[in-house]
Amino acid sequence: EMRLQGETIERIAPTLSSANKIRVSIGQTLPESGQWSISVNPTDSTQVLATVEEASDEQVEAAITAALKAQPSWAHASLTDRATVLRRAAAYLRSHRLEINAVEILEAGKPWLEADNDIGEAIDFLEYYAIWAERLGHERLDSPAGETNQLRYRSRGVTVVIPPWNFPLAIPMGMTAAAIVMGNSVILKPAEQTPITARYIVQAFEHAGLPTGALCLVTGRGETVGAKLVRHPQVSTIAFTGSRAVGLDIIEAASQVVPGQISLKRVIAEMGGKNAIVVDADADLDQAVPGVIYSAFGFAGQKCSACSRVIVHRQIFDAFVDRLALAAGTLIVGDPRHAATQMGPVVDDAAQKKILGMIEEGKSGSELLYQGALPELNGYFVPPTIFINPDRQSALYREEIFGPVLTVERAEDLDDAIWRANDTIYALTQGIFSRSAKAIARAADAARAGNFYVNRGITGAIPGRHPFGGFGNSGVGFKAGGPSYLLQFADQQVISENLLRQG
Ligand code: NAD
Repeated sequence: EMRLQGETIERIAPTLSSANKIRVSIGQTLPESGQWSISVNPTDSTQVLATVEEASDEQVEAAITAALKAQPSWAHASLTDRATVLRRAAAYLRSHRLEINAVEILEAGKPWLEADNDIGEAIDFLEYYAIWAERLGHERLDSPAGETNQLRYRSRGVTVVIPPWNFPLAIPMGMTAAAIVMGNSVILKPAEQTPITARYIVQAFEHAGLPTGALCLVTGRGETVGAKLVRHPQVSTIAFTGSRAVGLDIIEAASQVVPGQISLKRVIAEMGGKNAIVVDADADLDQAVPGVIYSAFGFAGQKCSACSRVIVHRQIFDAFVDRLALAAGTLIVGDPRHAATQMGPVVDDAAQKKILGMIEEGKSGSELLYQGALPELNGYFVPPTIFINPDRQSALYREEIFGPVLTVERAEDLDDAIWRANDTIYALTQGIFSRSAKAIARAADAARAGNFYVNRGITGAIPGRHPFGGFGNSGVGFKAGGPSYLLQFADQQVISENLLRQG
């Protein structure tokens, strides 16, 4: 029997089966598109959790129309009223926390603690952006005697939100909440793998009193429905989080201007990483080993922030590698419905095939140090895998794997380690384990990474505390969960008024 905080998953989760229909929802009745896909449990691929509508062209148009229509009056609501809607949405998530947790376990294969963190992060995004929206309403400009100058934020219009599946609540909620609180309307196109979790976003805002049409759910595949949305001339902002390949496509599509288009499109794109942790000669291995294990194998490595390369000072290389393999051997890989499980399956069939392929390919050129056993389950499992002395030209070393695969290499000294850590096109996260303040400062200065973690596992976002995001090939835009994020969802306007009577 699978238990979550003393309750069975089956009791907490809503009934999930092919009869659970997830439809395009825009606040009015729409004829069905007639095209459906299914969503399955990655831990047990025979279990169908939902039937999901693939939006038709007509439904996409209807959603844009609904969002355009709802937007002006929503923009007219005060910042305080909009912030209140976010706070009420947060309250809704709090009161449904266990239920959403159970859904994420079934739909994304997240271990329950990771699922709970995802829901906590979504709540934090809502409350953090509510606070910041109210602050933005009170920004001051210099106004000498005889004039007043006022800085205002105008809503941009319709925002399309395109999230990945790996933080199925927090990432789409963060992007949606930011757009909504700045007075935009949103069309949310959830990731194909996690439409059931996405529905809670719509429910939270409905419950919070967001006007009909200001948030539309448009389900379907990225290459079809997503591509149509990002090309639509009435869309002014696109908030995307996902792979670099898709991000580049979207940036290109958004730059194609068609006659009559209402605004140049702004794209906020947060993309992948090939993140490294440096283990310095004097590192505390009691800290470094579990830190690396968590960073590499948490949620089976399916985090943009995950560590996929460890770079170890040669003086402690052998000691570190011995302990790392031992620690990896204690990982509990299995059914994420069990509270003790540390690593579940990967998200789907395609991900499993891709990762297993990269592991096989890696075996020529890189040395296999450790490979875990697979649980006897009918799901998309990949064993935790560690290579040492990797071929630095291989795909294994160069490309984002997005799975439970780690390479460990030797560095001559700290400078060599820093150089290796930066030897990637990405610039998302990096970390160091060291006892030397000088070494830490040097590594932080040199790091081409948006988030740098010192003597701790490399983790994701914590709104307000660890605002998150990369640069280089990892993204364009201000940090999610940081003080500037909301600015991207508005246009600034300055009103300058002369108070003196002229001649
Ligand atoms: P993905 O790029 O395959 O898909 C992301 C979204 O884009 C999905 O909703 C998908 O339907 C949609 N999409 C696909 N093709 C499209 C197209 N042509 N036009 C419009 N939309 C399209 O990524 P994924 O597999 O869902 O997520 C994993 C990736 O996300 C990894 O690369 C990871 O590093 C990245 N990620 C980055 C961050 C960050 O904050 N930087 C956070 C989480 C995940």
